[in-house]
Amino acid sequence: MAAEDRSLRVLIAGAGIAGVAAAISLSRVSSAVSLDVQLYEQAPEPLEIGASIALSPNGMRTLEKLGVHKALSDEVGYRGPNGIPQIFRHWKTDQVISADTYTNVPNPRHRTTRFHRGHLHAALFEHVPSRFIHLGKRLTRAEANQNGVTLHFEDGSEAHGDILIGADGICSKSFVADYKLQFSGKVFMRSTFDDSLVEGKIPSLPTDSMHWWGPCDNFFASKLGKNQYTTVGAYDDPRTAEKFEKGISWDQSGDVNFLRGKYKNWNPTVRALTELTPYTNLFPNFAGDALPTWVFASRATLIGDAAHAHGGAFAAGGSLALDDALALGLAFRHVFKPSNSGQPFSLDDIRKALGLYSNTRQPHTARLLRIVHNQIEKRGVQFDSPGEEDAALVTRMRSRPNTEGLSEHDVEAAFVAALEQTGAAEAPDQSQALRSTDERADESRVTIQLKGSNL
Ligand SMILES: Cc1cc2nc3c(=O)[nH]c(=O)nc-3n(C[C@H](O)[C@H](O)[C@H](O)COP(=O)(O)OP(=O)(O)OC[C@H]3O[C@@H](n4cnc5c(N)ncnc54)[C@H](O)[C@@H]3O)c2cc1C
Repeated sequence: MAAEDRSLRVLIAGAGIAGVAAAISLSRVSSAVSLDVQLYEQAPEPLEIGASIALSPNGMRTLEKLGVHKALSDEVGYRGPNGIPQIFRHWKTDQVISADTYTNVPNPRHRTTRFHRGHLHAALFEHVPSRFIHLGKRLTRAEANQNGVTLHFEDGSEAHGDILIGADGICSKSFVADYKLQFSGKVFMRSTFDDSLVEGKIPSLPTDSMHWWGPCDNFFASKLGKNQYTTVGAYDDPRTAEKFEKGISWDQSGDVNFLRGKYKNWNPTVRALTELTPYTNLFPNFAGDALPTWVFASRATLIGDAAHAHGGAFAAGGSLALDDALALGLAFRHVFKPSNSGQPFSLDDIRKALGLYSNTRQPHTARLLRIVHNQIEKRGVQFDSPGEEDAALVTRMRSRPNTEGLSEHDVEAAFVAALEQTGAAEAPDQSQALRSTDERADESRVTIQLKGSNL
C-alpha cells in the first residue's frame, strides 16, 4: 500500500467518557502531532446526564496520565475517609460482612472516587477544544474501506477520515451486524441529589460507600463529589429481554414509591435512605459477549462500552473506558512515533496501531465478560428454607470475586506485554488472526449498521 503524506484524520463516533478520553489521549499521549481528531456526538449539547459513576484506582491513575487533574481533586469526586473502597453489609441486620480493600494504592488521590457522571464528563470535556466537537450529529451508518472511513449522519451530512473509533456506547455494536445484548435480569433504580437531604437526618449514616446485599436485591448508597449523594436500588425483574426493551428505556423516570416498597423490610438505615430519596431513574442492565475482533477493515476499532458490553458490572465501565483511551494513545505513539511527525503513513501503520491497542485491551475485557456471564447464569437459585438462603447469601458476600486485577489493573504494563508478545514494532496484524473467514473475505469494504441508541 502506498504511503500517504498528509495528516491522519481520526473520527470518533460518540462523546461519552470513552470518546472524550480517546480524543484527549490521542492528542496528548500519542504525541503524534500530525493527528487531526474530530468527535461526533448525537446529543445537541453536553448535558449533566446520568447518575453516579465510580472510578477505581486504575481509572484515577489514567485520569492523571491524561492530564485531567481537576477530576482528581476533592472538589469534583468523593473518596471515603477511611481508605476503604466499599463496605458490604447484610440487608436485614446491617452487619458488616466484608469490604473491598486496596493492595497497592499509595497515593490517596488514586483511591476509588465517586462522581456524578455529568461532573466527570464535564471535567474531561474541558480538555477538548470545542472546534473538534460536533454536537447534534447522530450517526446512522459508517463505512470503512482501503481508501478511508466515512460517517453518515441522520441530518444527511457526512464526515471523512483515515481512522474510525466507535465510542457510541453499549447500545451500538457498530461493526457486528448480529450482535445481541442479553438482559441480565437486573434493573437499577438510580438517584443523585443534594447530600443535605440525608446528612444529619439519619442516625449514624456511614461516611463510607455502603453496599447492602439481600438474597436477590441490593442497595447502594454513597456521598459523591460536589455535595451530591446517590442511592441505587438493584432488583430482579422477571420480564424477558424483548418485553423489557419495549417497557423501559435507559434513564427513564421510575416510581420512587416502588423503590420504597421494595426495601420496606430492610434495616432502618436503608429504609430511611429510600424515604429520603426524592426520585429514581431506571437503568435496565444488559451485557454482551466478548467480540472476536476489535479491528475492522484495518482502519476502524471500538472503545469503551461499544467494545465490551459488560453491563456496568463491578462499577468498572468508566475506568475501563479511560484505560482503553490510554492504550489507544500508547499504541499510536508507538507506531506513529513523534520523531517521525510529518512523515508519510501507510494503511499497515494504522493496522499495527489498532492491533496493538486491541491486543492490550481485548484479552483483559474478555476475562471480565466471562465473569459477568457466569454470574448471569447463576442467578435464580432456589433454597429450601430462609436459613439456608441467608447462609448462602453470607457465603456469597464473603467469597466475592477478587477484583483487584480489575480495579488496580496496570494498562501500561499490559501495553508493554502486548508489545513484547507481538514482537515490538513489527507486531503482526492480530486483527487478521482474530477475524472470521467471512469477515476477511469482505476485507475491502465494511459497512457498519448502527442500531438505534436510546441513551
Ligand atoms: C446518558 C448516559 C448516562 C449514564 N449514566 C451512568 C450512570 O449513572 N452510572 C454509570 O455507572 N454509568 C452510566 N453510564 C454509562 C457509563 O458512562 C459508561 O458505562 C462508561 O462510562 C463507558 O463510557 P462510553 O463512553 O463507552 O459509553 P457512554 O457513556 O454510553 O457514551 C456513549 C456516547 O455515544 C453517544 N452515541 C450513542 N449512539 C450514537 C450515535 N448513533 N451517534 C452519535 N453519538 C452516539 C451517546 O450519546 C454517548 O454520549 C451512562 C451513559 C450514558 C450515555
